[in-house]
Amino acid sequence: MSDPFRFDSHVHTNLSPCGDRAATPLVMWRAAQEMGLSAIGFTDHYSPGPVPTCAFYARPGQEVLDALRAELRGLPSEPDTLIGIEADYAVLGEQAAPQQVWGEVDYIIIAASHYHLPGTPQPAARDPRTVAAHMLAMARRAVLLPGVSILAHPFACNTLLPLPPLMDALTDEELVELAVLARDRRVALELNGGPALRAETYKEGVMRFFLLAKEVGARFTVCSDAHRPADLGRVELAAQWAREIGLREADMLSPDELRAWHCAKMEEVNQ
Ligand SMILES: [Zn+2]
Ligand SMILES: [Zn+2]
Repeated sequence: MSDPFRFDSHVHTNLSPCGDRAATPLVMWRAAQEMGLSAIGFTDHYSPGPVPTCAFYARPGQEVLDALRAELRGLPSEPDTLIGIEADYAVLGEQAAPQQVWGEVDYIIIAASHYHLPGTPQPAARDPRTVAAHMLAMARRAVLLPGVSILAHPFACNTLLPLPPLMDALTDEELVELAVLARDRRVALELNGGPALRAETYKEGVMRFFLLAKEVGARFTVCSDAHRPADLGRVELAAQWAREIGLREADMLSPDELRAWHCAKMEEVNQ
């Protein structure tokens, strides 16, 4: 039986430009196995092709997926291993997760807050309300993108900080609207131990959103967003955070449900 608090749904390898060189898929998988995770989802950064405005995305996503799959072939069934991608709404907008990749993966997570990358739409002004409204609008559009099943690190950004005064500029109604949209579109909200560890203010800032999302029945995942084996422990931080929020097993998305959501999304467009 898979424990959704032991399912790390967001893990990078050295196939991501920001991944540690030694973090091969196999090294990451073995580390997950040693940690006793019940499931691990690989989600290297994805773009369909090189992005001229953003050198971070130089390698075609299909190449990355082929390399990942080749290295993970023939592994034992525990931990349960899923192949996903981290698509990037801030950089690629509506082209972030094209249908051509849907059949290649078990699920797609969508990031809408990599504002540190060149070429991303920036807020029109730097006052908290303008910045927060921009982040909210981007998150909303990302959740509406067909084919995506998890919103990665909601409102987490390396440059638009600190988060609490920004989140204070958003009303409960606005946050509930995003959470309901995520719930109805079957997009889980990610509790990410990465930014939560880097900045205590992330957790403080985003907490109200997660509490409201729990109230309306949105679903959640935990993850480490690891870029090297030592980062995998951050999934425990995310799980601890989930418990602080009061999330129970039924609030969390299991690997099989995640696969089923993705399949249902593919079937919907093929009808
Ligand atoms: Zn990310
Ligand atoms: Zn990531």
